[in-house]
Amino acid sequence: YSGRYFEILEKRKNLPVWVHKEEFLKTLKENQIVLLVGETGSGKTTQIPQFVLEAVLNENPSSGPKGKKWLVGCTQPRRVAAMSVSRRVAEEMDVEIGDEVGYTVRFEDCSSSKTVLKYLTDGMLLREAMADPLLGRYKVIVLDEAHERTLATDLLFGLLKQTLVSRPDLKLVVMSATLEADKFQNYFTGVPLIKVPGRLYPVEILYTREPQRDYLEAAINTVIQIHESEPPGDVLVFLTGEEEIEDTCRRIASKLGDQVNVMPLYSTLSPAMQQKIFDPTTDAVRKIVVSTNIAETSLTIDGIVYVVDPGFSKQKLYHPNTRVESLLVSPISQASADQRAGRAGRTQPGKCFRLYTEKSFKELEKQTYAEILRSNLANTVLTLKRLGVENLLHFDLIDPPAPDTLARALDDLYHLGALDDECNLTKTGEMMSEFPLDPQMAKMIIVSPQFNCSNEILSVSAMLSVPNCFIRPRGEGQKAADKAKSMFSHIDGDHLTLLNVFHAFLQHNQNQDWCYENFINYRAMKSAVNVREQLVRIMSRFQIKLCSPDFNSRDYYVNIRKALLAGYFMQVAHLERTGNYLTFRDKDDQVVHLHPSNCLEYKPEWVVYNEYVLTSRNFIRTVTYIQGEWLVDIAPDYYKPANFPNSEAKRVLQRHCKKRRLSE
Ligand code: ADP
Ligand code: MG
Repeated sequence: YSGRYFEILEKRKNLPVWVHKEEFLKTLKENQIVLLVGETGSGKTTQIPQFVLEAVLNENPSSGPKGKKWLVGCTQPRRVAAMSVSRRVAEEMDVEIGDEVGYTVRFEDCSSSKTVLKYLTDGMLLREAMADPLLGRYKVIVLDEAHERTLATDLLFGLLKQTLVSRPDLKLVVMSATLEADKFQNYFTGVPLIKVPGRLYPVEILYTREPQRDYLEAAINTVIQIHESEPPGDVLVFLTGEEEIEDTCRRIASKLGDQVNVMPLYSTLSPAMQQKIFDPTTDAVRKIVVSTNIAETSLTIDGIVYVVDPGFSKQKLYHPNTRVESLLVSPISQASADQRAGRAGRTQPGKCFRLYTEKSFKELEKQTYAEILRSNLANTVLTLKRLGVENLLHFDLIDPPAPDTLARALDDLYHLGALDDECNLTKTGEMMSEFPLDPQMAKMIIVSPQFNCSNEILSVSAMLSVPNCFIRPRGEGQKAADKAKSMFSHIDGDHLTLLNVFHAFLQHNQNQDWCYENFINYRAMKSAVNVREQLVRIMSRFQIKLCSPDFNSRDYYVNIRKALLAGYFMQVAHLERTGNYLTFRDKDDQVVHLHPSNCLEYKPEWVVYNEYVLTSRNFIRTVTYIQGEWLVDIAPDYYKPANFPNSEAKRVLQRHCKKRRLSE
């Protein structure tokens, strides 16, 4: 072992969970399920899985099933956390990441046959369960951040509850930061609970006297004020998303210059940048971390003394009536606000600046609603069906979703051809569930050979699965960036534009300088290439044909647009005479606007869209021109007269239907 190993070991032994090591291991030995609740930063995520691993290795000196090594798995709701924490643990154990300690996140597997401790996103463990419902390689599974109540973690609860019965040798540790423990204790009746008290210093909470109109402005001003009038100590600012965070970092840096070290923290940040967050700072330079919710409980940054909390986060919301799921910047809950404040008191007494009034705080929800209550469940239903759950209503969930939402999901899957009349998984549905994508995208890929363009559709899907590839700086660079983007623009739509970018990237041999010159996000492009390769592998497993239409043929783009529609026919909008677009699903319609990022040079009568964005207005983002008659050709069951909306689109569709019948 290196000297650094012992240095880190000393630090580790000071973490609050170490006091409970013996008690924890003894409880785990005597029980199949253990609940562990501890303050954020007490060492749950980094230490407990190592304790567990030690015990597993001691008790199972010989190898596990089929000569392979037994695994300890620890789930994380966020990919950044899985990656960052596993790296840290590899360092603590003095091994290379990917060897004994590894991680698996969507589209990236950094584990090997040597791996005995694996951090993975909850979604990935669910996927593993699809392939092997008994999770045979695992000896112990640690469900971490249970308090977050993500959809995948909730499903894992239900699933593991069954698996533990069939596998008495499998153990489960549930770890959580806040005390929703009674909810988990009711769910797993009679399970022992270990509480790890944290070492929190007092945190003074300061509210604004008036509500703030612009929380970004207020956050920046507060940071400057802290820097100018408060004693040394690092600052943590909570914002909602990448663009906002990058922008705020630039603005703070331009105001405070070299006196501070401003760092962003969000999920698509490169691993090297993520690691920089943990570098200790000197007294002379104040560290200012501007982060998404990741820093609320998933990652603990030592040395934070001041927290700036505007009170918002991006949350998934779903309206079953309109079937719209979107990410919306929404007020956080009281529990979240308290967690955020707690980040200021880890190493010394701290201060939390809440950029809202005390009255507003009292009006916040006590807890954030579980994700399962806020989601479109089509993917969930597909997963459960694949896992062999026959009756969804009897599947034991902590918070069962509304029957409406469930019914909608079943209906969507039926129209996508994933379920048959008896609600059983079809062959198509089975294939769809193998793609780590939403059901519509999976469907689009599966049917793309019928339009002779699976190569193109794969590229578009890959581009839709990675962060936005266009970089658009504020101020000076913006014009140049827009000009660069226009070189890729396809007049018929954003999907085709993405395809152009992807092709250009390959033509330029994936060159980084080329990306830089063209305001293209190099990392996003590299991951698109990687995602595409993985999708190709799944395709070949099912022997789905890889094919391209002739690029010079008139129908090249027509075929691609038809294939898009074959997956996304439920996400279509029609231009009304009022100049507005109306979406419709069943008899429901919604006024929407094309997102300003679109590159269409005209307003087509019909568009297919990838995403619904709710801000002050309703936007549809990533849109491509389609023809109305394709709807009745491609999805005749869905677009039948009885389902037509009461808009102008109705008449247009009726005409298409009539024509179609005449020609038959
Ligand atoms: P919990 O899961 O209870 O919130 P963690 O196990 O995540 O606690 O964190 C324990 C300690 O390990 C914290 O002090 C944290 O700062 C430290 N730590 C975690 N990841 C890293 C890292 N990548 N580099 C340095 N320190 C880290
Ligand atoms: Mg943790």
